[in-house]
Amino acid sequence: MTEKFIPLTDFRQFASSLAIPDQLQAPDGQLQDTLARPLHDLRISVTDRCNFRCVYCMPKAVFDKDYQYLPHQDLLSFEEIHRLASIFVAHGVNKIRLTGGEPLLRKNIEKLIALLAGLRTPDGKQLDLTLTTNGSLLARKAQSLKDAGLTRVSVSLDALNDNVFRHMNDVDFSVSEVLEGIAVAEKVGLGPVKVNMVVKAGVNDQEIVPMARYFQRNGQILRFIEYMDVGASNGWQMEEVIPSAEIIRRIQAAGMPLTPIEANYKSETAKRWRHTDGGAELGLISSVTQAFCSDCTRARLSTEGKLYTCLFATRGHDLRALLRASDQHSDLAITNVIAGIWRKRDDRYSELRSQQTGADSGTGKETGSTTRKKIEMSYIGG
Ligand code: SF4
Repeated sequence: MTEKFIPLTDFRQFASSLAIPDQLQAPDGQLQDTLARPLHDLRISVTDRCNFRCVYCMPKAVFDKDYQYLPHQDLLSFEEIHRLASIFVAHGVNKIRLTGGEPLLRKNIEKLIALLAGLRTPDGKQLDLTLTTNGSLLARKAQSLKDAGLTRVSVSLDALNDNVFRHMNDVDFSVSEVLEGIAVAEKVGLGPVKVNMVVKAGVNDQEIVPMARYFQRNGQILRFIEYMDVGASNGWQMEEVIPSAEIIRRIQAAGMPLTPIEANYKSETAKRWRHTDGGAELGLISSVTQAFCSDCTRARLSTEGKLYTCLFATRGHDLRALLRASDQHSDLAITNVIAGIWRKRDDRYSELRSQQTGADSGTGKETGSTTRKKIEMSYIGG
């Protein structure tokens, strides 16, 4: 077997320094970037640790026993996260997703959820407060998450076949425990559970049809995600991507007719389909073959408080430095810094990648923007 060279940069060192503007303005919830995209979603990574070693996210070759995780004092505290989240909500964020790493590994995560559940949008509405988990601790924690105020949960599951799943998580974790977590989450009211499957050609694409069949029967919303070139550690190649159109074709060819349905809202990442003869819903997240940057309303806050305006960003903005500055910046001052960052945002990485890999489709070559240094998904959250 040939050895694969995995380039790894310590992306955590890259951050721009931020200055407080002279003229401060109160937020009006109407922030827009250079492409007229509002700020509606905030994904907050609460830990850079995970108990799985999925090959596309935290491969063992990189995240081994010597890997240096962030020390605890570098992580944003729950109070700091709450303070920043309330500022983002004032700018128009109405949906917060907790990610990681594996967010359920963060000690007392329920306390953070309870703090965030108390936030209200400027017009007094509750937030859509969700969490993405690998499901390993879900059966144990679902009730306390619900009690703390979590609205919904998404579970990553890449295969139903136990051997394939154990191979993909690379820590020998069984499918049955994740399925139990999904069942408990539904039972305590964290549904409808969304199940996210990253499809990688030659690794788990044979699981597309069994997954579609199983979750049609069980009523959860299964979402297929095209394998993406996030970070620098997964050695992504275009030929490993199964396009969403092919996924739909395979499901229909297996005797499960599908009908496209309307998006719930404009910036929804998944294209929705429904089983024609069974009611259950499916989603396709086609970041590679049908980029959706033009509707991207998401900001990401890393575990140590850096703000990223794109999943494929190379540089973050160090909000923690503002929170911990000795001259005690006011919420209004930090509000204006965040507004300034969003107003300058012009990210559209996936659209640019589509233009390039479209030309090179099938060659597996990485060109131009796909070779620049990017942050790891385990650090920024997916
Ligand atoms: S590539 Fe960046 S801008 Fe485009 S959809 Fe993804 S996160 Fe948003």
